[in-house]
Parts: sequence; C-alpha cells; structure tokens
Amino acid sequence: MPVSAPARDRVLAAVDAAAPEIVDFTSALIRVPTVNPPGEAYEDCARLIGDRLAACGFDVEYHAAEGRPEHTTAHPRVNVVGLRRGRRARPNVHLNGHFDVVPAGGGWTIDPFGGIVRDGRIYGRGACDMKAGIAAAVYAAEAIRRAGIELDGSVEISGTVDEESGGYAGVAWLAERGRLSADRADFVIIPEPLNVDRICIGHRGVYWFEVTTHGRIGHGSMPFLGVSAIEHMGAILDRVRRELLPALAARTTQVPVVPDAARHATLNINGIAGGQPVDGIQTPCVADLCRAVFDRRFLLEEGFDAAKAEIEALLERAAAETPAMRYALRDLMVVHPVRTPDGSPVIGALERAVDRVLGRPATHVASPGTYDHKHVDRIAGIPHCVAYGPGILDLAHQPDEWCGVEDLVNATKVLALAILDLTRTV
Ligand SMILES: [Zn+2]
Repeated sequence: MPVSAPARDRVLAAVDAAAPEIVDFTSALIRVPTVNPPGEAYEDCARLIGDRLAACGFDVEYHAAEGRPEHTTAHPRVNVVGLRRGRRARPNVHLNGHFDVVPAGGGWTIDPFGGIVRDGRIYGRGACDMKAGIAAAVYAAEAIRRAGIELDGSVEISGTVDEESGGYAGVAWLAERGRLSADRADFVIIPEPLNVDRICIGHRGVYWFEVTTHGRIGHGSMPFLGVSAIEHMGAILDRVRRELLPALAARTTQVPVVPDAARHATLNINGIAGGQPVDGIQTPCVADLCRAVFDRRFLLEEGFDAAKAEIEALLERAAAETPAMRYALRDLMVVHPVRTPDGSPVIGALERAVDRVLGRPATHVASPGTYDHKHVDRIAGIPHCVAYGPGILDLAHQPDEWCGVEDLVNATKVLALAILDLTRTV
C-alpha cells in the first residue's frame, strides 16, 4: 500500500473546513419529515440527497419501488443512488443510509423537525438515526474530492426508504433489482448511530410469531359449558414465564451484542387480544378466541430452526397438560442473524481510521435488533458489510434525539479515510 500521509491530512482538513456545511445538510435533512409509517415526504428527501450528490460530482439515479404494495401515489417509495467513479470502477465502496425516521412521539422540548443546532448538538427526529450518518457519508466522499484526490476505485452513496419497517422497498428492493449487488460493490458501510468508536459487525435473529388459541363459546354464567381460549393462552404464557424465559436468559452469544443484557436470547410479548373488546358492551360469553404476538430474538449460535422448534415443543407440552386446548402457530417474520466475516477488509479499514482520527482503538459490537445489513448480506450477496456512523445508539427513537457535531465531524473523517483505504487509493 503506498503511504501518502499528506493526502490523508488534506482530506481530514477538508472535512474540518466543511463542518458547517455538514451540519447544515444534516439540519436540512431533518427538516424533511420522512415519518414512517406511513412514509411521508420520501421523494422530497431523495431529491435533497440526490441534488447534493450531483453537486458533489456523483451520477445520480432514482429508483422507485415499482410493484411493491407500499409504493403508492400518496406515499411513493423513492430511493436514490449516486456513483462517483475514480480511475477504476473497482473496488467500489457503497455507503448506505436510510432516510425514513420513526414518528416523533411525545415528550419533546424542541421542534422535532426544526433541524435546530444548539450547544454543539443537532436536534430532531432522525438526527442520529440516521440523517447525520447520511450527511457524513456524502461529505466523506466530498472531502476526498475537495482534497484533490482521485480514487483508485469508486464510491457509491445510497439513500433508501423504510428501514424502520423492514427495508423491503429500500435496500432489499435495490438488492433484488441488482442495483446493489456483489457485481457492483465490494464493501458496504451503513452509517447507523453506533457511537463513533464502535464498528457493528452484525445483529441477532428475529422470529415474530402469532399464537392463536381456539376455545368454544358458552354462556358466561355457566363457563363450564364452554372452553375459554383466554385461559388456554394463560397456560401458554405461564409456561413461557416459568420455562422459556429462564432458558433464554441462560444462553449467551459469543457475538459482542450491546447492551450486555442483549447478549442473551430474549422474548417479548408484543400484544394480546382475546374474547370481547374490553371497551365494548359486555355480554356473558366464554372467549372462543385469543391471539398473541411474540417477538423472539435469537442468537447466531441458536439458529432459527432450533428457536422455532423450542416454541413448538412448548406449545405441545402446554396442550398435552391442558384438556381441550386447541392452538395454532403462525410465522409472521423471520430475520436470520448476520455477522461480518472475521478479518473483513471493511473492519480493518475502519479500525485503522478510528485509531487515526480518535486516537483510541475501535471496539466491535453487534446490534440487539436488526437493520439493513441483512439485505446487503443475503440478497445483494456482499458479506463485507458493517455499520459505522455518528451518534449515540441509545438516543435513537427517543424524544429530543440529537447528534453531536463533534461526533458527526469525526465520523465523516473516519468514513473518508476508510474510503481511501478500501479503494487502495492511499
Ligand atoms: Zn436506523
């Protein structure tokens, strides 16, 4: 690798010089209220990103998710991809950020869509998750250009929709259409807010399922003549609490999931409904139906098949010991865990860059949830993918969400150095 410290220093200086622009661009992105659901103002935000990419020397394409049911006239799903070719097409470093944000919710003391900058922080819904990350990606590439350096490869930046609702019209759609694929890109960095000294190498698996118990209606004054679906769901929940939850808590992954408590397998009960709606007029009836939705997060070491088999076995045990219990299990969503390969060049490049910019070693983490990494790995077929970006993970989706300006500038520098490194330019 040619050593060219002055080139790197020029790029870092260019990031510092661009700091006010990076902050302004983040604020401008926050002011487009891309709330999901339902997917507001996506096209406006895609254009804002696309216009800035074009101004920074990128060839820009817009990709609407034609054919996806959620792509409607009222709420079009428009993604944007910009490519800036250097001396060669490859290696290609692709930086992807989702521009949808979750609803503001209550508890704000500041306008969630004002893009307000105060005391070194940029506030607003999506400030850290992840409009700052998009701004960092754009200006990482731009700082290289302003430093007068032509890449020995390409840099590509995409702004995509719907990550917060699964990413099917966003990254998954671009990957299915071949726009994001191993044929075009070698490395993918997703600037999600993981803290500026942490590299995220994957996530746990997700299994959402619904359990329905079927009883038999009867008169509420003679419940012994009916079968209560709610009581049967109670028998299932009792086993979940007594048997399953302790077993899950006893399992620990070797993957560095944060926070520490998420290093174990977990289960959440998303919702439950059975019998008569509690706000309606009540009649004396035994509940003939009860449904509950569960969110099981499984570890890389567990795998989906075992996680599901364990649920099936629990239901069978409950039914065997509960007379007249009838139930059904239905899968709602399955996301398999992902993990960046050990020794991936994208990890090494970011480690070197973090060390250089922050003067301390990067740590590896994995996400307790899931993000677009899965689509990059499974559909696009690009294993060399990580998340690295500005902002504090714990602030995502919170009221008064913010991203620190210093974090934003530092993450931009790290991304710029990683682009130079991965394209083997410097
Ligand atoms: Zn995010």
